[in-house]
Amino acid sequence: MPEIELKLPDGTVRQAPAGTTPAELLDTTDAVAALVDDEPWDLNRPLDRDATLAPLPAASERGREVLRHSAAHVLAHAVTDLYPGAKYAIGPPIEDGFYYDFDVPEPFTPDDLERIEARMRELVAEGQPFRREELSREEGLALFEDQPYKREIIEATEESEGAGPVVSVYRNDGWVDLCRGPHVPTTRAIPAFKLQRAAGAYWRGDESKPQLQRIYGTAWESEEALAAYLRRLEEAERRDHRRLGLELDLFHFPTEIGSGLPVFHPKGGLVRKLMEDYSRAEHEAGGYAFVWSPHLARSTLFEISGHLHWYAESMYPPMELEGVRYYPKPMNCPFHILIYRSRGRSYRELPMRLFEFGTVYRWERSGVIHGLTRVRGITQDDAHIFCTREQLAPELASLLDFVLRLLRTFGLTEFEAELGTRSAADPDKYLGAPEVWDQAEAALREAAEAAGIPYRVAEGEASYYAPKIDVHVRDAIGRRWQLSTIQVDFQLPRRFELEYTGRDNARHQPFMIHRALFGSIERFFGILLEHYAGALPPWLAPVQVRLVPIADRHLGYAAVVAGALKAVGLRPEVDDSGGRMQAKVRDAQLAKVPYTLVLGDRDEEAEAVSVRLLDGSERRGVPLQDFVAHLQAEVAAKATAAHLPGE
Ligand SMILES: [Zn+2]
Ligand SMILES: [Zn+2]
Repeated sequence: MPEIELKLPDGTVRQAPAGTTPAELLDTTDAVAALVDDEPWDLNRPLDRDATLAPLPAASERGREVLRHSAAHVLAHAVTDLYPGAKYAIGPPIEDGFYYDFDVPEPFTPDDLERIEARMRELVAEGQPFRREELSREEGLALFEDQPYKREIIEATEESEGAGPVVSVYRNDGWVDLCRGPHVPTTRAIPAFKLQRAAGAYWRGDESKPQLQRIYGTAWESEEALAAYLRRLEEAERRDHRRLGLELDLFHFPTEIGSGLPVFHPKGGLVRKLMEDYSRAEHEAGGYAFVWSPHLARSTLFEISGHLHWYAESMYPPMELEGVRYYPKPMNCPFHILIYRSRGRSYRELPMRLFEFGTVYRWERSGVIHGLTRVRGITQDDAHIFCTREQLAPELASLLDFVLRLLRTFGLTEFEAELGTRSAADPDKYLGAPEVWDQAEAALREAAEAAGIPYRVAEGEASYYAPKIDVHVRDAIGRRWQLSTIQVDFQLPRRFELEYTGRDNARHQPFMIHRALFGSIERFFGILLEHYAGALPPWLAPVQVRLVPIADRHLGYAAVVAGALKAVGLRPEVDDSGGRMQAKVRDAQLAKVPYTLVLGDRDEEAEAVSVRLLDGSERRGVPLQDFVAHLQAEVAAKATAAHLPGE
């Protein structure tokens, strides 16, 4: 046997005969697989070349993928045991779990899922080893004679599914799946899993192809990790903005208008206005000029901008009138460019920062529409900045600062930036001179450094015309959302032949930066609602104070208190329903009003109020004027939570 050289995690190098497996050399205590030159590999798969070895722990991102994909095999194994003749399609790991798609005559019911899960537990308890085999294409096609989806994958030579020039399959106990691997050594190495739900899904996501039945599940490295995940799911469910939107009377999606097109009710509209007012004031202070553009434009505009070429799939179809085609706009950029180009520009006017709350329309497939976070009518807080080459770096740095400051005001404090740069492997794909790209990428990197937030470079994530920074935030329960984008554009200034006259009196092409801060107001609204679980901070709450008179005889005093609050621009609401005081206090809590003031005889005599917060903490006998001043100060400071006066 030829010898191979294997480098171990402690740095030692071992000579071993070819055919040695990682399990023979590594400590596999917590490992589900090995890493061979950083590629996941079965612990029991023979090695045939020099390599660096490491264990892949179950409690890691890639380790969980192996675990979850192995659970998907066990799921398909159980389904084919219980439903003879079931055809199985694909079963990849996904974020937090896995699924498998089946072609079966009837959709799965919750009872079916229970039976399947029980069968899976039996298969796991048996500790069946996963065994890898490699076949020729012909052998593969013969093996999956009764499995049309597997045959289709083999015929299409899909390497990611194990159907390369050599076809790899994994067997356990007679059941077999086409698969690239790797897998856990035996089914017993799947310590904790749960099936979650079933749903229809088209083969290859294509509506013209057969409808399959997809079963979703989750799998974790321990029962504790599974339980923690299920608690997170419950918490996310409690915070679901679609439910909160209805409960708090903020917005809804009328079917008569169409999917992905929300209407905002008075309370939701007020929150939206407060967000916009703050944003407008900050943009004004930040040296932005406010512009406005229509919702439709002739096809000519989108031909010049290139949208009809590379963005057409996301655009609504045109309306044709008097021989002219008009499109609802998918982006505001070309409109702002025309404003820039409306007359000759001098370097003295740069940087020129144009801002608009512009509503755009994009065709999102029905399957991806989700509450406010994925809609078809999107209001962007959109800015386009035109500047000289020298201004690019300072402008990007101040833009990122501006973005982070506004997001912090909304109570988001954990950021991660992703810097999308060129791919070194494909340098010719990009528009614009390499030295200009170098400069823009360096400027974006400096901006991220200067802002002091963690960032990672995503090589190859730039579009062919622009490097960018995406800002991601983490919400109160640790979920990551992509929000703001800052993008340097080398394409549009060229397509629209933009110019300015420089200090040297010659004509130059300006740089253009796209910047959306909230991304979209609708989406940001949804994220904020979930972040705060509906309990918006006082400055954003549509109703800031609920007044609860103990008896009808206190209604007069409630009107006095409401008047004092309204006089300074605060937003009180009197509960004059006939209910009991305790019920009214509970209603105020369900409505997530930050402050409840209970008003009784003693309060009225002392011209005071009894203050209660959503968490149940309270303070009695606070002088009315003190409370008014306290809330005014909190709103002015845009505090991210309500506090009792004096704290
Ligand atoms: Zn597999
Ligand atoms: Zn733009």
